[in-house]
Amino acid sequence: MSETSLGEFDLIRDFFDRSELRSKRSDVVGIGDDCALLSVPEGFQLAQSLDTLVEGVHFPVDCDPFYLGYRSLAVNLSDLAAMGATPHSFTLGLTLPEADPKWLKAFSDGLAALAGQYDAGLIGGDTTKGPLTISIQAQGFVKSGKALRRNGAKVGDLIYVSGNLGDAGGALPDVLDGKIPETAQDKSSEYLLNRYFKPSPRVELGQWLVENGATSALDISDGVLGDLGHILKASGVGAELTIAYAPVSGALLEKVGSEQALKLALTGGDDYELCFTWPESRVKPLAEELAEICQLTCIGRIVEGSGLVDIATGEPLSPKAYRHF
Ligand code: ADP
Ligand code: MG
Repeated sequence: MSETSLGEFDLIRDFFDRSELRSKRSDVVGIGDDCALLSVPEGFQLAQSLDTLVEGVHFPVDCDPFYLGYRSLAVNLSDLAAMGATPHSFTLGLTLPEADPKWLKAFSDGLAALAGQYDAGLIGGDTTKGPLTISIQAQGFVKSGKALRRNGAKVGDLIYVSGNLGDAGGALPDVLDGKIPETAQDKSSEYLLNRYFKPSPRVELGQWLVENGATSALDISDGVLGDLGHILKASGVGAELTIAYAPVSGALLEKVGSEQALKLALTGGDDYELCFTWPESRVKPLAEELAEICQLTCIGRIVEGSGLVDIATGEPLSPKAYRHF
C-alpha cells in the first residue's frame, strides 16, 4: 500500500484479523500463516466458489463500503446455498487504490454483519494496490455425492423459485443514482435497495433441499429465464412456464407497475433467490415443512425436449425473446 497510508500488515490486523471476522471453529488456522488450514469432516465434500467484483463494472463508483462488503460476501454464500453446502469460511483478495481507514472499517463491518450469521470466518487473503476490486472465495461442506447440481432435473419435476424476483433489478436506477437504503425516497425504494445490497443467501433452504432430495438447483443471478436455461441444458430437458406466476413484491409493483415488474422478475439480475426442481410425487413435505423457511412458488414443470415454452401461448420463451415482448 502507499507509504503515506496505513501499512499492509496494520491494515490486515486492524480490519480483517478482527474478532468479529475470525472463525470460532477450533480446527481452523486463519490469518497469520502462509496458508489457512481447515479440515473437511469425513463423509463431506468441500464446496468452493469465487466471485470477483470490479468497481465501475459490478458495482458503481463510490459505492457505500458497508453494503459493498455485505453484498460481496452474500453473493458467494448464495452459491454455496445453491449447492446445498453449509458455509464454513472465506478468503478475501482486496485490491485498493488507497488505504482509507474509514472505508476499510465500514467495508469490514459489512463483511462481519453477514459472516457472523453463518460463523463463516475470514481465514486469509491478499491485499494489493490498484483499482478497487474485491475477490471473495467462500467454502463450505456438503455431504459427499449429495450436492445440488444443475444436471439432475427430470421430466415431470415441478420448478420452484424462492422469495420474490425482480426486486434487485427494480432497485438498479436508484443504485446507479448513488442511493442506499438510508437515503431512499420512500418505503418501496428502501425495500428494493435492501434487496439489492443485502441479498439473503438461501442457505437454510439449500440445506433442506439437499436433505430431502431436490433434483437440481441454482441461484438466480441473471434472471430466472436465463438461469433456468442452464438447468435445462445441463439436464437435457425442456420446461413449460406460467410466467404470470413469477412472484413479485408489492414494493416492486408499486415502483414500476405490473408489466415492468414481470419483465424484471423474469430477466432482471442480482436477486440471489434459488430456482430448483422437485419431483411432483413429493410435493406435500415441500409445501408443509418449507413454509417456515421461506416463500416458495411453483412456476412451471420440466418436460421433454429443450428450451422454455410459455404455457399460456405455447410460444418459446427466451430471455432475449421476452425483452422484445
Ligand atoms: P504472503 O506474502 O505470504 O502471501 P501476506 O503478507 O500477503 O502473506 O499476508 C499475511 C497474512 O495475512 C496471510 O495469512 C494472509 O492470508 C492474510 N491476509 C492478507 N490480506 C488479507 C485480506 N485482505 N483479508 C484477510 N486476510 C489477509
Ligand atoms: Mg500476499
